[in-house]
Amino acid sequence: MIMRVDKMIGNANLDTRKNIKRNAKKGALLINGEIIKDSSTKVDPNVDEVVYMGELVDYFDNIYIMMNKREGLICQSNELDGTVMQDLDDFYLNLDISIVGRLDKDTTGLLLMSTDGKFVHKLISPNSNIWKKYEVETSKKIDPSLVEIFRNGVYIKEDDYTARSAKLEILDERKAYVYVTEGRFHLVKRLFSNNNNEVIKLRRLAIGDLELDSSLNPGQYRELSKEELNLFI
Ligand code: URA
Repeated sequence: MIMRVDKMIGNANLDTRKNIKRNAKKGALLINGEIIKDSSTKVDPNVDEVVYMGELVDYFDNIYIMMNKREGLICQSNELDGTVMQDLDDFYLNLDISIVGRLDKDTTGLLLMSTDGKFVHKLISPNSNIWKKYEVETSKKIDPSLVEIFRNGVYIKEDDYTARSAKLEILDERKAYVYVTEGRFHLVKRLFSNNNNEVIKLRRLAIGDLELDSSLNPGQYRELSKEELNLFI
């Protein structure tokens, strides 16, 4: 995979992009034995030899993380305070991590993060059609007629938009599973609020065939196994 050399060095956890840019300008970056001053130069990590600050840079595989997001943190990867990044070990903080499909501050559950841009793009693309499964708790009784209404596509007045067909599986008077394929802002909450009800608890349980690992407590995370990653290939 062709990538920017500063990303390759960053993924190897050797330095921040800012420092790499500065040090490259001073001549600390060699690609195949040649001094390269532009840290945005593209390389093939499997072929090109990259030396940074006198150290040979090992190609570092992309990272794929599943987190059980806890309440009260926002999904933003370029800041630490108040974001899900504060639950990650320092090791991950210098990597160029993107969040796959954000969750609201008060939403909990399955959150994916990765350094692999292609993977992120594939999962969040509107054409991906990947089902996201949520568990909802509502303030009022869930009217069984909503099953049909969700299936037909709910008109979302805030966006002047008709949502794609969603699946509603009622579990209890005020509890249900909701399956959506879109990643629109506040979508699940709006499916209910546009039908005279309100989501008071929301938890994502699955993205496609990947389920949240039930052994992860809120705020905990782990890297995906090869088998889990293969679910998306
Ligand atoms: N839908 C919402 O309303 N909120 C989320 O966090 C995710 C889906």
